[in-house]
Amino acid sequence: MLLTETINGKALISLFDSDSPNQRLFPLTATVNDCGHLVIGGCDVVELVRQYGTPLYILDEYTLTVAARQYREAFQKYYPGESQVIYASKAWCCQAIVSILAREKLGFDVVSGGELYTTVKALELAGYNLEDIKSKIYFHGNNKSPGELEFALDTGCKIIVDNWWELETLAQLTAKRQQDATILLRLTPGIECHTHEYIRTGSLDSKFGFHLGELEAVYTFVKEQKYLKAIGLHAHIGSQIFQLQPHQDLAHILAQWYQKALDHGLCLREVNVGGGLGIRYTPADNPPSIPQWVQAVSTSVASAFKARGLSLPKLIAEPGRSIVATACVTAYTVGAKKIIPGVRTYIAVDGGMSDNPRPITYQSLYQMVIANKMNQGHTETVTVAGKHCESGDILLKDISLPPTNPGDILVVLATGAYNYSMASNYNRIGRPAAVLVHEGESNLIIRRETYEDLIQQDLLPTRLTNHSLGNFNS
Ligand SMILES: *Cc1c(COP(=O)(O)O)cnc(C)c1O
Repeated sequence: MLLTETINGKALISLFDSDSPNQRLFPLTATVNDCGHLVIGGCDVVELVRQYGTPLYILDEYTLTVAARQYREAFQKYYPGESQVIYASKAWCCQAIVSILAREKLGFDVVSGGELYTTVKALELAGYNLEDIKSKIYFHGNNKSPGELEFALDTGCKIIVDNWWELETLAQLTAKRQQDATILLRLTPGIECHTHEYIRTGSLDSKFGFHLGELEAVYTFVKEQKYLKAIGLHAHIGSQIFQLQPHQDLAHILAQWYQKALDHGLCLREVNVGGGLGIRYTPADNPPSIPQWVQAVSTSVASAFKARGLSLPKLIAEPGRSIVATACVTAYTVGAKKIIPGVRTYIAVDGGMSDNPRPITYQSLYQMVIANKMNQGHTETVTVAGKHCESGDILLKDISLPPTNPGDILVVLATGAYNYSMASNYNRIGRPAAVLVHEGESNLIIRRETYEDLIQQDLLPTRLTNHSLGNFNS
C-alpha cells in the first residue's frame, strides 16, 4: 500500500493507464474536480451522496459498456469462428445492467429462476424481442428445481446440464411436454488454479458438473433421449484468476471430449469456456487485460480443434466480475472513530458486510479513497469497520487514508461484482440504493430499502396479536 501513501488522489487514478477496465482501480471516467472531489461519469460523488444518501453504489455506464465491448471485439478479432459473450448475471443482476449489456449484444448466463425472471422482464421492458435473444440465455446451476427447468423450457433458453438427476428430470419433463430442450453438458475438467477455494470450481472434487469418468455414459444416455438436443460442452474453472494457462489447458480438454461426443453421434457445435478473469482490486493485483485473455482463450481453442481436424465450434465465454466490478464504487459516510492508543484506529462506516460480504467471506482486499479529500496525502493508517454486530465486519485493515473524520465520504473501489448480488438484510439494515452515472447525469436504478420494505414479508398469525391474553408485567 506504499503507493497510496506517497501520491495524491489524482496520481492514483492515472497510475495504471490501461484502457482495460479490469486492470484499473477506478472506473474509466474517474477524475478529481477543483474542489478535490472524486468525479465519476461526470458526477461529483459528494453531490451524489447529498442527493441519494449512503451507502450508495455508483455504477459508471461508460466503464461497463467498454468492458462488454472489449470482450466482444476481442473475440471478433482473435477467434476465427463464431463467438458469443454472455454475462454471468450472478455478479450483479438488475434491470439496468441487463438492458445496457443487451445493447452491447451480450447474452446472459443465469443460475436461478430469479435471475432468469429479472433478465426476461428487463429485456421486455427495454423493448427487446425475447425471440431474438432467448437463444443467447443460458441457464446454469448444480441443483435447478423442476420448476426452474420448466421456466427455462417456457422461455426457450439453453440449459447447461450439471448432473445425472437434472439430466433425468429434464428427459422426463421434455417427454411430458413433447418439447425439445437445447442443452450443453457441464464437465469438471480437473484443472487446479490459484484462487480462493470457495471460488475454485474446476478441480475433480467440485460440486459442479460431470466428472470426465462418467461423461461417455452421459453421452450415451443423451443420445437415447428423443427431446434432449445436446449442442455443446461447458466448463468453468474458477474466479478471480490471473493466469492464462488454466484456460489454455482447458481448451485441449474440451476439444478432446467434444471429439468423443461427436464419436457418440451427438451434434455438438458450441464450446463454453466459462468466465473467471480476475480484476485489479489493489495496486498489487496484476491481471491480464480483457483482450489478452480473449486472445489466449481464442487461439488455444482454435488450435486445439484444428489439431484434431475438427471444425471450429461457436465459442462462448461468460465473464461476470471483469465486466461489472470496476464500473462500480460504493460510497459510505464515515461515523464513529475509535482510537486505541498504540494498538489501532478504527473508523466506522454506515454499511459493511450486508452490502459487501466479500471481505468477511473471502478475506478480500479493496482500495479506498476519501471522495471529499482526493488531493490530500494519505498520512493516517486506519482500519475501516462496518456497522454490523460482528467483530469480523471489517472492510479493510490498516489502510492509509487522508486524516478522516465523521462526515467524510469513504469510497470503496471496484464493488460492482458480488456486492449487491450477495447483499443481505443482516441486522435488518436495508440494502443500499444504486445509481447509474453517465455524462453528468445520474439515475436511480435500485431504490434504497426502507423500514417498510424490511417488514413487508413478515406475517403475524392472528393468535399472536391479542395482547389482552398475556401481560408482560405479571
Ligand atoms: C461465476 C461463474 C462465472 C463468472 O465468473 P467470473 O469470475 O465472475 O467471471 C461464469 N460461469 C459460471 C458457470 C460461473 O459459476
